[in-house]
Amino acid sequence: MSGSQARQQAISAVLNYKPITPALNFNETPAADIYGCNVFSITEMEKRLPKQVFKSVKRTIEKGEPLDNSIADVVASAMMDWAISKGATHYAHVFYPLTGITAEKHDSFLSPDGKGGAIAEFSGAQLIQGEPDASSFPSGGLRSTFEARGYTAWDVTSPAYILENPNGTTLCIPTAFVSWTGPALDKKTPVLRSMKALNIQAQRLLKLLGHKDIPMVTATCGPEQEYFLIDRNFFFARPDLVNAGRTLFGAKPPKGQEFSDQYFGAIPERVLAYMLECEREFYKLGIPVKTRHNEVAPSQYEVAPIYENANVAADHQQLLMMILKNVASKYGMSCLLHEKPFAGVNGSGKHLNWSLGNSAQGNLLDPGETPHQNMQFLLFCGAVIRAVHLHSTLLRAVIAHAGNDHRLGANEAPPAIISIFLGDMLADVFEQIKKSGAPTSSKGKGTLTVGVDTLPQLPKDAGDRNRTSPFAFTGNKFEFRAVGSNQSLSGPLVALNTIVAESIDYIATELEKATGGDPAKLAPAAQTLLKSIVEKHGVVIFNGDGYSEAWHQEAEKRGLPNLKQTVDALEYIATPENIAMFEKYAVLTKEEVVSRQEIYYEQYCLTINVEANLMAEIAKTVIYPASTRYVGELASSGASLKAVGVEFDATLLNKVVALNKSLVATVAKLEEAASHGGGGGHGVANPKETAFYLKNSVIPLMVELRGIVDELETYVADDHWPLPTYQEMLFIK
Ligand code: ADP
Ligand code: MG
Repeated sequence: MSGSQARQQAISAVLNYKPITPALNFNETPAADIYGCNVFSITEMEKRLPKQVFKSVKRTIEKGEPLDNSIADVVASAMMDWAISKGATHYAHVFYPLTGITAEKHDSFLSPDGKGGAIAEFSGAQLIQGEPDASSFPSGGLRSTFEARGYTAWDVTSPAYILENPNGTTLCIPTAFVSWTGPALDKKTPVLRSMKALNIQAQRLLKLLGHKDIPMVTATCGPEQEYFLIDRNFFFARPDLVNAGRTLFGAKPPKGQEFSDQYFGAIPERVLAYMLECEREFYKLGIPVKTRHNEVAPSQYEVAPIYENANVAADHQQLLMMILKNVASKYGMSCLLHEKPFAGVNGSGKHLNWSLGNSAQGNLLDPGETPHQNMQFLLFCGAVIRAVHLHSTLLRAVIAHAGNDHRLGANEAPPAIISIFLGDMLADVFEQIKKSGAPTSSKGKGTLTVGVDTLPQLPKDAGDRNRTSPFAFTGNKFEFRAVGSNQSLSGPLVALNTIVAESIDYIATELEKATGGDPAKLAPAAQTLLKSIVEKHGVVIFNGDGYSEAWHQEAEKRGLPNLKQTVDALEYIATPENIAMFEKYAVLTKEEVVSRQEIYYEQYCLTINVEANLMAEIAKTVIYPASTRYVGELASSGASLKAVGVEFDATLLNKVVALNKSLVATVAKLEEAASHGGGGGHGVANPKETAFYLKNSVIPLMVELRGIVDELETYVADDHWPLPTYQEMLFIK
């Protein structure tokens, strides 16, 4: 079957799609009844554990107290009984290696009983510690492959759950993953450590502000996930989507998103059926999804859960991405989580909504009605402003990866310049602080009159939204909008928690010095401190249009870094200052930071290598044959015409011939350049150096080759063109 036939067959398969009978009926099983049914939750534990054991587990979860290992046997046995009652045959330690994926190692509950039968067993030791072979996960030189030992350690604070499969279920236990020599090999360990650091510093400041018996302060996180859905037939007819997750070729369609007719538009029936089924799966796992809607680009959608403890939110986010992908295939679709599956069409992000708080003081970034009188809020908000200004390069670095390079700064997603949007009300309060130290008023929120008497008056938010800001205050939390759709939340969370902990530490230390323990001196000291913070760090605040060229110039004047590409940004992961900060707050050791940087460079290299080789292959084996066949066809029509004395205009023929020639030459150049790109299955020898090489010498050739192929697409006869087009993938549903 030739390529073009594959494309035509894909189109007819899509057109003949028969909706599957919905497997769920929310009339029979109301959503509330299934919510959390597959989670070994606090409630489930309370039912199943002896009182003392339950209390001990709860103290660890809610107060961050050390885990009492002696209770593990009891918890394990209760967990197994619960899991078996849900049909589980195996348990799996789930962990999060530095590639950003979710990894699991499954073990059966059954052990031979020595009498020809088997008994179900799950000990505390098995719950607490696992030992997957670590040699195949990147460690950035922390552990050579011959020392393959790595341990997984039970994270009590993230609940165990059941994953269903048509043929059985598995008990999944979230774990941290460390090398046997100690260093973290995963993304969870530093999240937990950074949450601890943030709690310690926030407690200190709250104590200074006069609070007593302060409950544990946690970072909270609510991620908004954007994704594309396209028909699976198209997906499998595109080797680039299958292997790289994005289209490496494809001319922009005549109709893109110009009409903005997709955003919040009616959701197509098949997609809605898919969303409902995803939601049922999320509910079962206790993932509190709340909103769903169409996004800006054609075939782009969004799902957003309600915020949770950041560590749990990160685990849930990994599960959510997996479920989005798995359920899609049931509905004959593929879910694309790449940051930029279609060039020239809006890409996908993951907005990380972040705040901190506890059960007594509530959300510490809630300004209340009159933020100018809310010293506590102003200090925590001031800490974030200072942190983001001082560490904007680190924030930029933790969202840097090959996929996000296609999106950041492309006038659809926030630019690579990290700035803060505060909104009118807060910007005004901080402006007053800067002028006098003592703010005297807060702009009222007001009400919005819709102009029709029968409609309610709407309370108006004090600040409008700003879609162009990478880091926006949105009422009672900050929204880090520049995170990539495919990314694990952990890196950005670790950075945010740590830099804010560092700023709260600074604020608490300064206030302690200035007041010498005298509460009467607190208010004036806080005012002076806030004034100096705004003076030094206020330049990071920008409420204007982040997409505009003027902002790029203005940002440069203000000295805000503009790190356009991953290779530039990754430099900042392991600066001496950042290493010192991570070590000071016991989040990452120097060797852990350095190894992470190396792994991220390596991931970049592997991605570009795969894409470069894939492009060359598709150009040679799919595009070139089609366009050459077309040349042959044109030439023979020309010859036939000439034979009967009709003139043949060879303009198009010559154009295609010329493009074919450039294609062949460029493929040769690309293959040559890519052969020095350090690929080849054994990791990349000098990841950083290679990353720069790929960016400077290979990517330009990829861009050139794409230009040629995309132009060919506009010349070669449609019935010869082998790959499903943008038009088809995005608009035929
Ligand atoms: P908006 O409409 O302003 O974006 P939403 O209330 O819809 O606000 O929230 C968007 C996301 O922000 C949701 O995932 C929500 O759970 C999350 N969010 C709300 N409050 C907090 C908070 N205190 N901490 C972290 N995330 C939050
Ligand atoms: Mg959004």
